[in-house]
Amino acid sequence: MEHVENNSEYAGLQVNAGVAQPGSINPYLNQMRKRRHKLFEPQEYIDGILAGDVSMLGQAITLIESVHPDHQALAQKVIEGCLPYSGNSVRIGISGVPGAGKSTSIDTFGVHLLERDGGKLAVLAIDPSSEKTKGSILGDKTRMEKLAVHPKSFIRPSPTAGSLGGVARKTRESIILCEAAGYNNIFVETVGVGQSETACHSMVDYFLLIQLAGTGDELQGIKRGIMEIADGIVINKADGENVEKAELAASHFRNALHLFPMPESGVMPEVRCYSGFYELGIDGVLDMIFDYIDKVKASGYFQYKRNEQSKYWMYESINEQLRNSFYFNKKIKDMTEDMEAEVLGGKITSFVAAKRLLDEYFSEMKGQE
Ligand code: GDP
Repeated sequence: MEHVENNSEYAGLQVNAGVAQPGSINPYLNQMRKRRHKLFEPQEYIDGILAGDVSMLGQAITLIESVHPDHQALAQKVIEGCLPYSGNSVRIGISGVPGAGKSTSIDTFGVHLLERDGGKLAVLAIDPSSEKTKGSILGDKTRMEKLAVHPKSFIRPSPTAGSLGGVARKTRESIILCEAAGYNNIFVETVGVGQSETACHSMVDYFLLIQLAGTGDELQGIKRGIMEIADGIVINKADGENVEKAELAASHFRNALHLFPMPESGVMPEVRCYSGFYELGIDGVLDMIFDYIDKVKASGYFQYKRNEQSKYWMYESINEQLRNSFYFNKKIKDMTEDMEAEVLGGKITSFVAAKRLLDEYFSEMKGQE
């Protein structure tokens, strides 16, 4: 058809008939989507992970994080298969309040560690708040620019689903897969607020607390009992005009640590200053961590603590499964609301309500036997 613009009025302009354009939707997209959801046999995941295949490792962790019962069953088989190949790593927990410089520091520590040690590093995270806030997803690749492009590193953001216990379990299970894939250093990042550092502490060999100087609240950690679980404390941002303040804060911490009883490990926690951003004092921090690891390996505490952690996780897992079995039970779900209303209405006491619910649950369980 002749275009109106070809009228002599528009002299100098020649408009040609167009050609058919391809659809704006990529015809292969559906295929790609399907491929992404493809599930493999447990042994295929295990073989891939043992061969160090990062894509298989990532997909297996996605199964761990899934709430789908089929995915969970598959994930458990993969974990079981990987378990004999796990354990050969140093697991380091890194905690600090938002803004303390965790991601900057992990980036720098990670690159230095990979240079020194020549091995591989996985960065995982526990952030139970990430589901609600959607903001602070720890372990995010974009926050660790150097590690994100390092061929020997694997970064995985925090699982987002559910309770702290659930999130922590998933991170712990991911550690097993990463170790089977040959990652001999594992960093577990967590926010230094609330309960998540206790959960982190229960799965790492060394717990590093990042603090800042000059906040006027240097000993903030003591109140919350975090210092008691720290195996080492570091003061970040010891650069420029901040060096003196950082040193002062470090001496405060050293004094405060002397007030605590000797930790179970038998190794007194050290305090050091460094700058994650300007890469100052990084080797000192890594030396501090790995000296501790050498000492506790020699004393037998390393293995003792890992055994204690395995026991802890067995009971945690029982608790989680019992809770889920109870609260996701259809009958209990229906009954709970009524019981709650009766308690609020002052008709029955909390204890009677709880007992009725539990009796109902147990009698149903008996019926299923
Ligand atoms: P996170 O929230 O604990 O992960 O903290 P970030 O790593 O995101 O750091 C928070 C801010 O502190 C960023 O603006 C960093 O650039 C800055 N920062 C981190 N480390 C240092 C450091 O060693 N020195 C200085 N001066 N700034 C730093």
